[in-house]
Amino acid sequence: MRKPVIAIDGYSSTGKSSISKIIAQKLGLVHLDTGALYRGITYFALNHCIGEDGQINLSDLFSRFKEIQLEFKPIDTELVMFLNGQDVAKEIRSNEVNENVSLIARQKEVRDFLLDAQRKMAEKGGVIMDGRDIGTVILPNADFKFFLTASVEERTKRRYLELKGLGIKTDENTVRENLISRDKTDSEREVAPLKKADDAIVIDNSLFTKQETIDLILSYLKTF
Ligand code: C5P
Repeated sequence: MRKPVIAIDGYSSTGKSSISKIIAQKLGLVHLDTGALYRGITYFALNHCIGEDGQINLSDLFSRFKEIQLEFKPIDTELVMFLNGQDVAKEIRSNEVNENVSLIARQKEVRDFLLDAQRKMAEKGGVIMDGRDIGTVILPNADFKFFLTASVEERTKRRYLELKGLGIKTDENTVRENLISRDKTDSEREVAPLKKADDAIVIDNSLFTKQETIDLILSYLKTF
């Protein structure tokens, strides 16, 4: 029996990745956190493509795509992202990456570079992929599409606790400002903006626990 292809899009810190991970484990699917790919490229750019003005030099980055190898490797029950053979799972969550990732993700060259790899990962089915443009651009024929949203206050609280858990120093104000500015850049960009697919199911989980959101999504998946 063919396994489903599921697209989960939505705003930052609505729990897309952690919820997708648990659903994948429960249903025996592969979970792909596409945000990690954009974060990986941003991390590479911050390390290798800083111009004399101290900013990321985009044309330098575009000319170095062939030096970037992003892989998801299974470790324990998770897929962990490696950049050129190095486990960068923690590094890609840093404040510096948070502050630059939407600039990188807005570039058509970057999105084109990642497009085929993402589609290829879903080719055989059995995939739950989370991001911003999965239901609209990457997998428009997905069997199920969900769009997650929640209040800024709730999302700030969640992201702050997540970063604290990773040992990354920050404060709630910085987290809130970063969420708002990333969502704005992601929604307003010309290429593949963050947007609900017409046929996506919207879930506002401001008042839901993680488990309640998971149960709600699972209740829709029963129809497959
Ligand atoms: O999901 P996460 O918050 O880790 O994503 C980090 C950033 O990567 C987003 O703010 C967005 O700029 C970019 N992204 C994207 N398209 C995706 C996934 C993430 O533009 N499919």
